[in-house]
Amino acid sequence: MEECVFCKIARKEIKADIAEESDNFIAFLDIHPKAEGHTLIIPKEHFVNLMDLPSDFASEMHDVIKNIAEKRLKEGAEGFNLISNNFAAAGQVVMHAHVHILPRKKGDGLSMIV
Ligand code: AMP
Ligand code: ZN
Repeated sequence: MEECVFCKIARKEIKADIAEESDNFIAFLDIHPKAEGHTLIIPKEHFVNLMDLPSDFASEMHDVIKNIAEKRLKEGAEGFNLISNNFAAAGQVVMHAHVHILPRKKGDGLSMIV
């Protein structure tokens, strides 16, 4: 049995504030939000990072990303950043593939690498 925290969220063994679920993905609020509505999108199956995620998942993941972004924009966000940390050198802490959606507002003071 996979001990990974995101696998446990996907299996509903750990509580998360789930924003959306599709066949192969689940989106939930980050427990340490960097902005209101900061959301993580993960595949339900364990892949270490985006390099391991099968390419035929891309379109479904993109749809989930767009649905979450649309929700956040309707809630008042003025933009959003899509961020994925891959491998420890890039700041990946949870070794289960995920992307962050960070809702943004003009002048919110958040700083990004790029
Ligand atoms: P990173 O691996 O650096 O891209 O970031 C992992 C993210 O997962 C961090 O922003 C954490 O706050 C978040 N995180 C870790 N555990 C949980 C959890 N149980 N529920 C929600 N978010 C989590
Ligand atoms: Zn996992």
